[in-house]
Amino acid sequence: MAVCSSSTCCDGNFDEKEKNVSTTSFLESCIPLPLPQETLDDIVPKGKDFAVLHGAGMRHKAKYDPDTLYFAPFLLLPSAFPRREFDRVVKLQPLINVLMHKIAHDHEFLKSALEKTIQVDDFTARLWDIYTKVREEGVTQEVSLGLVRSDVMLTKCQAGCCELCQTPPYVTGHQVEVNTIASGFGHLGPMSGSIHRYVIGELRKPELLHHLPENDALAGLCGAMISAWEVYSSPKAVILFVVEDVTYNICDQRFHEYEIRRQRPDILVIRRNLTQISEQGRLTADKKLFIDGDEIAVVYFRAGYEPGQYHSEAEWDARLTIERSCAIKSPSIHYHLAGTKKVQQEIARPGVLKRFLTESEAEQVGQLFTGLYTLDRSAEGDKAVQMAMENPDHFVLKPQREGGGNNIYGSEIKEVLERLKDSQEREAYILMDRIRPPVQQNYLIRPHLPVTLAEVVSELGIFGAVLGSGKDIQFTNYSGHMLRTKLSSVNEALLHVHFYPTSTGWYKNCDLEVMAG
Ligand code: ADP
Ligand code: MG
Repeated sequence: MAVCSSSTCCDGNFDEKEKNVSTTSFLESCIPLPLPQETLDDIVPKGKDFAVLHGAGMRHKAKYDPDTLYFAPFLLLPSAFPRREFDRVVKLQPLINVLMHKIAHDHEFLKSALEKTIQVDDFTARLWDIYTKVREEGVTQEVSLGLVRSDVMLTKCQAGCCELCQTPPYVTGHQVEVNTIASGFGHLGPMSGSIHRYVIGELRKPELLHHLPENDALAGLCGAMISAWEVYSSPKAVILFVVEDVTYNICDQRFHEYEIRRQRPDILVIRRNLTQISEQGRLTADKKLFIDGDEIAVVYFRAGYEPGQYHSEAEWDARLTIERSCAIKSPSIHYHLAGTKKVQQEIARPGVLKRFLTESEAEQVGQLFTGLYTLDRSAEGDKAVQMAMENPDHFVLKPQREGGGNNIYGSEIKEVLERLKDSQEREAYILMDRIRPPVQQNYLIRPHLPVTLAEVVSELGIFGAVLGSGKDIQFTNYSGHMLRTKLSSVNEALLHVHFYPTSTGWYKNCDLEVMAG
């Protein structure tokens, strides 16, 4: 059997005919669907109770009330995901962490990758400004904590050139992005697995339980924060969570606090938004960060990744203060920059991975990439603009933003590029091949909405933790995973809206070995 080659197979090299196929294939559900109505009437309220009573909750965005918690939207059953692909991306995660770590510490690379972007994208420019100031002043904390999440979607492999390609439903994982800041769902990911274990038990299918893989994301991520706290080495210092002004995804964040407390009852966590840090934070002469009298050992950013979280100069000053301090940051500013979409596109250029990884490592990581294209004002960029305008449905146009809801799809790509094509502004974006994940059926369970059997697609997030400096890496690991699912008809769904329930992976399909997440 031939081996998958990145030039012909798993890099999403679709031919024109295949590119027009709007979805790839169907994945079978772990339990035949639809379920009888009486089964649904019994299991759905049980599942909702399980979710609420185990902290799978969220605050309501439209009807925010600090006294009320809704269950987080979830899928009733685990979702299908081929074990072989799951194992592949899990195995690659430590390497992806190392890659991000090395990119973050490669000044020349960051500079050349981002120099055009920062001329047109104000937000990235502000981050770059902080990065530059800290570099000029001299970095006080060499150690960074990377809490990374690599998001992958399945797609159809066209070439049929290897065993995997020839095994229906012909799927392979393609990376959507790597998050280096606020990589959430370390609690809700594993919790959806607990819901599914319970539901499967109640459906009297215990023989299916062994397909659901262990998932210790919360323990892994919090353990990494504790390791960073230990490196800081000041017994009374605390961990600071930088949070939004209002946190809707409160359970996910709080359970990180509770897990840290469980593992190390002697470590305190405090939560502040950037405005509060601007008011309460101060640096000592030796660059220790104090907030309201507490010395900060580790800063964990769950906010600060989008412009709206910086209301004024005060919040930018707070970010700078944190960066100047000797607290260990997750992420430090260079990690944040390494996670930009522009960097993702630049490392997908032929040969670039070899700057950071060995040849065989680069080959393995490179197979995860789908087509990524610069929109720089160059012949190469012009070609990408033309390609996207001719076939907008084959691509996603991405600005340098995080948090969902910012990407541009379909005919809007044409409109935006028509407007920007002769302007420098187009360099704020990158272009990416659109991944067409396989569709499957599942029940959407959402607060105050009817139970719906829908066609959905999934995105697997693999968590990894890496701790180290530019000189050495103390550890890099796979920490756990999460699977988010959205309606197949929706381009993109925000995590906190109803179309984006968490689910677990069910690795059952055809003759592939199977399991769940
Ligand atoms: P963000 O940083 O805002 O999360 P992403 O790149 O992860 O940006 O995109 C957000 C969502 O858009 C993804 O979760 C996925 O649903 C969809 N998406 C992004 N890139 C692609 C792609 N190349 N093909 C298909 N869907 C995509
Ligand atoms: Mg994302």
